[in-house]
Amino acid sequence: MSAFSFLIESLLRFKIYHFDNTPLFTLAVNPYMNFSRKKFLQAGTLGVLGSALSLKSEAEPLIVSPKRKRVLRVAHLTDIHVQPASPAPHGFAAALHAAQNLADKPDMIFSTGDCIMDSMSTHKDTVAKEWEVWNSTLKNENSLEMVHCIGNHDIWGITMPHATIVHDKHYGKQWAVEELKLKHRYYSFDKNGWHFIVLDSTYPVTFSYIAQLDDEQFEWLKDDLSKVAPSTFVCVLSHIPIIGVSVFFDGAKVKGNCWHVSGSDMHRDAAKLKNLFYQHKNVKLCLSSHIHLVDQLEYLGVKYLCNGAVCGAWWAGTNQEFPPAFATIDFYDDGSSENEIHYYDWKA
Ligand SMILES: [Zn+2]
Repeated sequence: MSAFSFLIESLLRFKIYHFDNTPLFTLAVNPYMNFSRKKFLQAGTLGVLGSALSLKSEAEPLIVSPKRKRVLRVAHLTDIHVQPASPAPHGFAAALHAAQNLADKPDMIFSTGDCIMDSMSTHKDTVAKEWEVWNSTLKNENSLEMVHCIGNHDIWGITMPHATIVHDKHYGKQWAVEELKLKHRYYSFDKNGWHFIVLDSTYPVTFSYIAQLDDEQFEWLKDDLSKVAPSTFVCVLSHIPIIGVSVFFDGAKVKGNCWHVSGSDMHRDAAKLKNLFYQHKNVKLCLSSHIHLVDQLEYLGVKYLCNGAVCGAWWAGTNQEFPPAFATIDFYDDGSSENEIHYYDWKA
């Protein structure tokens, strides 16, 4: 090993583990590295690693045009975890009202999954009641167009060790596809000069799941991106963060010199997706949720946002430092975007 490669390896190594404790990949941060605060703030959390290593990057920086025009304003209401029990139904309604009553009203709503409290290991009758509350609340309290991702908690039975339900027509993702009226579990659409790709992050494994695209979906994603004109900007929606910072504070553990992050908290195929986005410089924004914490980072010209949870700590108040919240995202004609978090009155 050369001195240089040893330096690289000692700078970058932390471990990401599969749910069953199998290492997924390793990356460690040298605890003795001393970044200047100014450089850190300029480069962004992960970007600073690239600059410290002097890695040559051809990614276009996110430059904001002084003449940019806003083309779309979206409210991002996610991880609602609705259920019949209070305060979930009126809390969900309060978030919908707060978003629709903003002085600068959004054009539409994005929801990146975990619509209902749980269907991964919940009896069918309870799941049906949760979907009932979801649909009746939207029918009565929302007048905006809505776009949905499937979250892990929207998938019925995947953590239940009952062979009998595998043959039920509602088993797995199909029930969520029907309730959310999706054309497919992953899909894309165009809106106001942007192209939006909605992914299905949840990859079921035996009685559990990880965050990863199956081969069929990854091939579709490659094909879909190849058909988008380079002048059209792309936003990717996924339930689970492709790259995130808050994942380090959501059950990740430091053991010895390494971080251990679950493969169900951040996309296990993040490097593969990052490499694909690097080939398509019009990919500008990735939206996610799942962690119920808020973070924002930029890496190789792509902004990654994890926008908290409408239910906060599953309708029990604040989750770590983050009360129940939703976000608004303004999309501009130069590929830039602005994100704002709104802490609404969920007890209203
Ligand atoms: Zn989730």
